[in-house]
Amino acid sequence: MELAPYPWLVKPAEVLRRMRKQLPSALLIHGPRGSGAYELAAAFARSVICQSPVDGVACGKCDECKLVVSGNHPDLKFVFSELEEFFHPKPWESKKENVTKTVKTLSGKIKIEQIRELGEFLSVTAHRGGNRAVVVYPADSMDKDQSSALLKTLEEPPAGTVIILVADDIDRLLPTIRSRCQIVPVSPPSRSQGIAYLEKSGIKNAEAELARLGGMPLLVHESDSELVMDKSMERKFLHLLELGPQLASVEIIKSIPRDVPLAAAVAVIQRWYWDLIAATFGLPSRYYPDQKTILDSLATHLNSKKALAYNQALLETSRFAAHPLNGRLILEDLLMKYSEIFRRERANQ
Ligand SMILES: [Zn+2]
Repeated sequence: MELAPYPWLVKPAEVLRRMRKQLPSALLIHGPRGSGAYELAAAFARSVICQSPVDGVACGKCDECKLVVSGNHPDLKFVFSELEEFFHPKPWESKKENVTKTVKTLSGKIKIEQIRELGEFLSVTAHRGGNRAVVVYPADSMDKDQSSALLKTLEEPPAGTVIILVADDIDRLLPTIRSRCQIVPVSPPSRSQGIAYLEKSGIKNAEAELARLGGMPLLVHESDSELVMDKSMERKFLHLLELGPQLASVEIIKSIPRDVPLAAAVAVIQRWYWDLIAATFGLPSRYYPDQKTILDSLATHLNSKKALAYNQALLETSRFAAHPLNGRLILEDLLMKYSEIFRRERANQ
């Protein structure tokens, strides 16, 4: 794990590295969505917790790092909105706490209870006697109540603790919050850095892909070249997904070749699913803006309970998709389940 996992983050990472000498109590890392601001914050938080960081980077080997990776470090806390929690599953989490809620009830805002809970968390001393780190994302989603509750914590910062606020848009934060924080801006990559990143990740048509991702290469989600499909097969796939509830197994069998690259196919479905959920929130499409009308129309038919379960199925499949026993069979099943997320519950279900 590097402090600057991406070349365009070298500068802000260096700023953070220098801050380690005298740890600030509050930090505000901000940059457009997908610029890497969150990734940088998470990496910095890990380095703060680490017993013996190497050049400002978490060592990954000490007891503290081991606890972090297992998800059990009592002095590292992530405060996410429900929506971010949903879209940024932490690597150690197999099940989401909010799995019983329906997609439509997921909030994009950090709640007042979470800020109060954070205050309580910080009111006792660190469990392991070392540093503590808190990452709050998206900090710019906080309303006045949440902000003033957080302000109380920021005004009396506990020793050895760094609170890292991450915001897409710094202007949406109250000036009183901003003034309490050391501010670290994160700039998106230059066009050539973005293209270079995608090319290095083995992505074909890197230039077009970067445009599709709005200039934010990290939004490609997966940087594995396996996860990119050739365009004509992707189009076939999108055609299937566009059918939504009308998607029938005969269509699937007709369209999917025997040697389908499963990991890439699942990645396409994941991206489509992301856009579909975004459409239910009235948000713009991140991956398939050309299909926005179809996505909007499909979104109105979405059975949110089934859709949430489907996301779990996608996540699980993507985990073992690299070495499938029978990729085509798995994919057929996944696509049939997809058509079902548009169906209402039957009385006997
Ligand atoms: Zn360590």
